[in-house]
Amino acid sequence: MLTIALSKGRILDDTLPLLEQAGIVPTENPEKSRKLIIPTTRDDVRLLIVRATDVPTYVEQGAADLGVAGKDVLLEYGGQGLYEPLDLQIAKCKLMTAGVTGAPEPRGRLRVATKFVNVAKRYYAEQGRQVEVIKLYGSMELAPLVGLADKIIDVVDTGNTLRANGLEPQELIAHISSRLIVNRASMKIKHAEIQALLKVLEQAVNQRHCN
Ligand code: AMP
Repeated sequence: MLTIALSKGRILDDTLPLLEQAGIVPTENPEKSRKLIIPTTRDDVRLLIVRATDVPTYVEQGAADLGVAGKDVLLEYGGQGLYEPLDLQIAKCKLMTAGVTGAPEPRGRLRVATKFVNVAKRYYAEQGRQVEVIKLYGSMELAPLVGLADKIIDVVDTGNTLRANGLEPQELIAHISSRLIVNRASMKIKHAEIQALLKVLEQAVNQRHCN
């Protein structure tokens, strides 16, 4: 049995067509179902529906053999316990700093609001900049508007959400896309099954890119 951890939304929407190329189709719609373990048309493959930020935990701990996680989530998660053999080239966006449009650089210690606390600390440490990182769980765009922070770090696609709130994208931290991740022990124990799946998914990714 291969267990694949996925999160609802963008990642699920873009991953299901790739899995279909490997003959893996969920037997019920994961977006609508209340079930968290979803069988597929392949007896040897099942899906786990988990929060996006929990995917690396399920895979590293071996509760799932494989998973699909955004590079933003993986950068924040850190750790060396996972293989990341395939860039699925889906759910692309950028991890960026953003601030109030036209605002001067604040003097003194920068206050940065984000849910990517580890990424933020690493990014500014590499620049030798002293910052205060403020952990938020959502609506990051609000923080600079009400004086909670000078800047935010968030994922940006079109930039429309930033602009709608009077913010501008500033520094690029990383290009983001979703990655297939694999548990280290599973990669050894289930080598043949996982390699076969990897091969089909890689072909599906390349095909999608050529079309
Ligand atoms: P935007 O197109 O920049 O206005 O992005 C719309 C919202 O979706 C923003 O709040 C982003 O944080 C979020 N977002 C955009 N792309 C992604 C992605 N690939 N993964 C997760 N969240 C995203």
